[in-house]
Amino acid sequence: MMSDFLERLRACIGPAHVLTEAADIESFCTDWRGRYHGSALAVARPGTTEEVARVVLLAADARIPVVPQGGNTGMMGGATPSEDRSQLVVSLGRMNRVRRLDRDNATLTVEAGLTLAEVQNAAREAGMMFPLSLGSEGSCQIGGNLSTNAGGTAVLRYGNTRELVLGIEVVLPDGRVWDGLRGLRKDNTGYDLKQLFIGAEGTLGIITAAVLKLFPQPRSSVTALAAVGDPPAAVALLRLLRGRLGDRLTGFELISEVCTRLVQKHIPRTPDLLPGHPWYCLLQVDEPWPNAGLVTEVEAALAEAAQSGVAIDAVIAQSLKQAADMWRLRENISEAQRMEGPGIKHDISLPVSAIPQFLEQAGTSIQAALPGVRIVAFGHLGDGNLHYNLSRSDSADNDAVSARSKEITRIVHDLVHRYGGSISAEHGLGQSKRDEIKRYKDPLELDLMRRVKRAFDPHNLFNPGKVLDLS
Ligand SMILES: Cc1cc2nc3c(=O)[nH]c(=O)nc-3n(C[C@H](O)[C@H](O)[C@H](O)COP(=O)(O)OP(=O)(O)OC[C@H]3O[C@@H](n4cnc5c(N)ncnc54)[C@H](O)[C@@H]3O)c2cc1C
Repeated sequence: MMSDFLERLRACIGPAHVLTEAADIESFCTDWRGRYHGSALAVARPGTTEEVARVVLLAADARIPVVPQGGNTGMMGGATPSEDRSQLVVSLGRMNRVRRLDRDNATLTVEAGLTLAEVQNAAREAGMMFPLSLGSEGSCQIGGNLSTNAGGTAVLRYGNTRELVLGIEVVLPDGRVWDGLRGLRKDNTGYDLKQLFIGAEGTLGIITAAVLKLFPQPRSSVTALAAVGDPPAAVALLRLLRGRLGDRLTGFELISEVCTRLVQKHIPRTPDLLPGHPWYCLLQVDEPWPNAGLVTEVEAALAEAAQSGVAIDAVIAQSLKQAADMWRLRENISEAQRMEGPGIKHDISLPVSAIPQFLEQAGTSIQAALPGVRIVAFGHLGDGNLHYNLSRSDSADNDAVSARSKEITRIVHDLVHRYGGSISAEHGLGQSKRDEIKRYKDPLELDLMRRVKRAFDPHNLFNPGKVLDLS
């Protein structure tokens, strides 16, 4: 039966695009963090929407569960198949064409398997910009970005992925193709179905293409690093800068000193730009027209912050290289923490105003539970998203942290909930938080989500075991 299925699959998309050897499928069966290890019946690599539809139809007929996969950089194990070798991974990497550039409509229609960096480049070559930006942009795919509703560093100004999309094309679990590739900014004709697929983590269908919004390219940019004494000062700096610079403030990241030390330890050639402070704010200011005075404006805003005691010190990047170094410091934190050893990670979202109190209370509770543990706190402060991670203390071993992870996560998530936050800001639920979410989400919302899932995928064949517990 399985060999028949594999034969039909090979006939459908060509034998070279159906991987079954353990060595060939290994990298598709392990997640980026190395936390989840699955085993797939096969990995199918269709090259067109029609091929995706035929693969899905074959799988539906044989009742074989399908795991859509993009760049496999997700943090929640959403793209990792189960261990029992019963599932088919459908990898979108060969669907990597730009279908259409519409300059007047400021849209780019792309296939799901383009990496985010390729999408950014295509927009740049057209003299415009696609603003989604993540540390994983060289590997993650736009289909994965849509399916996780990725956030990243420019949400403050441009919103999450769901705000950057006008239309999508989807292969449904029964093999039908929904062509929703409309490039409309206004379309009030009932339910906005595309939004159901965005952030669904492959549980409702396979996104094969999308119409993305483009924006004017920045013609003037300033990047700066400011040192602040504590999180309330970081929030005050954010408020001051927004007041002075408006929505030209594109990014505002919070970085603790613990993070900078980890990056310096593990990533060669990381410059120490502003040493010796407990917290840093990385800020990006962009304007779509040439403005030689932008640096002076940012300098004046930072000087005001220093005079009023909000900022301790600040450095403005003097070259593109220095600006890139500042961003590399931020973007290498995940990698440095991975190199340090296993830790406990939390991708949480809070009202910006609640972040200082949250950090204080969480720090106290966690140090009481696990004295000496390193709190690796950083994130997109401008939009209320923290990566609140923990690494072992220098003297402890990795097992000491890992063994307590459930208990520590309970402390963090309960506190997040108390402050009206979310236990997943931008990484989704995947298999990692599928059960955890039941503690915090309104049962009515979970019930509605299950009804949506059953309506689209009555046989539970699309990414089963991810996002929702259907039992
Ligand atoms: C160094 C690093 C930095 C990161 N920084 C950020 C960040 O700042 N912000 C952020 O939001 N995330 C970040 N991430 C997480 C990750 O890159 C994003 O979640 C990204 O959107 C995942 O894209 P992907 O193509 O790798 O998806 P995958 O990991 O392959 O899949 C993720 C989920 O989407 C589903 N899926 C993938 N493609 C499709 C498709 N075409 N149709 C339907 N379902 C699909 C999968 O089944 C899975 O459930 C980071 C990751 C790394 C490694």
